[in-house]
Amino acid sequence: MNLQNLTSTREKTIPVIQKAGEILCSYFGSNVLISTSKGGVDFVTQADIEVDRFLVQELTKLFPESTFLTEETAPDSYDDLQHEDDVWVIDPLDGTTNFSRQREHFAIAVALVQRGEAELGFVYLPLENKFYWAQKDHDTAVLNDRQIVVSSNSDIGTAVIATDWPWDMAKRNIIISALGPVMQSVRACSMLGSAASDVATVATGILDGYFHSGLKPWDIAASALILQKAGGSITRLDGTAWNMFCPDILATNGKIHKQLLELIRS
Ligand SMILES: [Mg+2]
Repeated sequence: MNLQNLTSTREKTIPVIQKAGEILCSYFGSNVLISTSKGGVDFVTQADIEVDRFLVQELTKLFPESTFLTEETAPDSYDDLQHEDDVWVIDPLDGTTNFSRQREHFAIAVALVQRGEAELGFVYLPLENKFYWAQKDHDTAVLNDRQIVVSSNSDIGTAVIATDWPWDMAKRNIIISALGPVMQSVRACSMLGSAASDVATVATGILDGYFHSGLKPWDIAASALILQKAGGSITRLDGTAWNMFCPDILATNGKIHKQLLELIRS
């Protein structure tokens, strides 16, 4: 079908995501922001909903045979999508808390997935002017037309990493337990508020690693491909094989992976 040519698909998709970024920014700082509780501490704004709708509408026009798994339209159960072709996995706004508090650090994340494996990944931070992409049949990851690679740091003692709080309160205990030993060993650990951006930042070498205990496929599908193409490593928090449908992730430059895994598991 028409998605097979990944380069052509990428070139058609990038302007759609850029336009989605303009729509997102038009809501930034707006005091007509409407928030609706999603339950617990999670929430959604009008910007999430509008950008979600726009991306589905425009990508459907370009690629009519697509299937969608988006944050704002996902059904309760979507595991069967692991076996489907041409699935667009979309987070219209990753970092909604930052966005709603006028912090400029938030992203749009879009991945094209074939049978559970990302073939294209895009992460766009419109107010920071950062556009990342990676493509399965290319060897490189790209930020604003430049190749990016992970850091060469293999010393856990000088590592700079990031993590974040899951929405699921029970899963926050995993982060709380891990932070004790991790913070006794690494140089610094940030909570920046956008998993998609943070994993892409590991791909640039600015961060050496990232871990999280409660992600959804749309948070991570795009940036995981970007990190893999930049030379990084990804496993689950118990060291077993990861895929985008797993809730937990350890994503690193590869060189501190084993050391960080041991700290998290200790
Ligand atoms: Mg979101």
